[in-house]
Amino acid sequence: MTEDSGMKEHIICPFCGCLCDDIALSVEGNQITDNKNGCSISQAKFLNHHDDRLEMDSSLEDLVKKAAEIIVNSKRLLVYGLSSTENDAHREAYKIAEEVGGVVDNTASVCHGPTILGSQESGEPIAALSETRNRADLIIYWGSNPQFAHPRHMSRYTRADGRWIKDGKKDRQIWVVDIRKTISAGVADRFIKITPGSDLEVISAIRAIARGKVLEVEEVGGQSVSVLAELVEAMKNAKYGVLFFGLGLTQSKGRHRNIDAAIRLIQDMNHFTKWSMMPMRGHYNVAGANKTSTWQTGYPYAVDYARGYPRYQPGEYTAVDMLARGEADAVLNIAADPAAHFPRDAVKHLASVPVINLDPKRNMTSLLAKVNIQTAIAGIECDGAATRMDGLPLYLKKVVDPPEGILPDRDVLRMIYNEVRRLKK
Ligand code: SF4
Repeated sequence: MTEDSGMKEHIICPFCGCLCDDIALSVEGNQITDNKNGCSISQAKFLNHHDDRLEMDSSLEDLVKKAAEIIVNSKRLLVYGLSSTENDAHREAYKIAEEVGGVVDNTASVCHGPTILGSQESGEPIAALSETRNRADLIIYWGSNPQFAHPRHMSRYTRADGRWIKDGKKDRQIWVVDIRKTISAGVADRFIKITPGSDLEVISAIRAIARGKVLEVEEVGGQSVSVLAELVEAMKNAKYGVLFFGLGLTQSKGRHRNIDAAIRLIQDMNHFTKWSMMPMRGHYNVAGANKTSTWQTGYPYAVDYARGYPRYQPGEYTAVDMLARGEADAVLNIAADPAAHFPRDAVKHLASVPVINLDPKRNMTSLLAKVNIQTAIAGIECDGAATRMDGLPLYLKKVVDPPEGILPDRDVLRMIYNEVRRLKK
């Protein structure tokens, strides 16, 4: 049972990669009645945690047996998701994939996978969000719309006052580079609009200008070279700059080559002053999924155990590719909604194979799943660890009890693993 009613402070919001750690909740009985400090998404997540729960058509024990039978009878299991659950659940998922020689992939493969590939190629010039808030006097958001996807990112880190940035609104500049004027661009100091798919060209041009090369063109990526030169000057003259980037950079033409070029731009800038860059991770623990996967398998995503040891091959062992090729013959989906987000070919195959779906709530995947198991919401109904977008691990607290008989993902996965082992004997 949870502690007594009252105000619970320093709660971490388990929604986006900001993992805001200053949420204050009023709890009466087993009900959350108020959320102070949270953005509108956080309000909805905490106050409506009991709505739209996934329905189970049988007892937990029966569903675990069904799930284990599907897994044992499969030849090519795909374990997928993990970005909206805590780290201990990840460990249990990897154990199942290893036990049956399956593939385990997380949602990074459809968001910041190119960021990981770019970092493996060129390095990871990341910083802490606290450093950004306290020191950065120039921020660039590239292909990212924080006001929409990470509503408190600006107010907590890039518009906030810091130790050496006394007035976050006056002493710090925010520039946005994007293909359209987003709401974040609307509140930035400068907006640079570029042509869709031209990120790699634009970054390459910026690097050339920074190195003193004279470009023999008037514009690059729909933007005049003189504006790009202004950006270079601002970057060179910053005391400390941070480049935040989103899916507009990772998933546009060029993909990991865009990230590779951006990392090299940051490395170039460090010849003049201090610069870092950071991916705007979406789901609250997708960064954690990459870390736990690396700790346990040696690789951050797209891991295959078919040969009894882990092999890594994005494009081959990534969930969308496996499904689109019709390769997976069973799917264990945890805390993700591939039916809502994957391309049509992948969803078509997903609908044709037995899917085991673990989630607190109903979603598109639950509509086509053969086995649906409701689980507790990490950070509200059970505890666990998660990793913020800058790599900082934070401990999620349990605030209220889950619905009766509902267990955390880690416990359900452990039950499935034990049943798989029993059936395999
Ligand atoms: S910005 Fe993200 S982590 Fe922070 S309160 Fe809003 S949804 Fe939660």
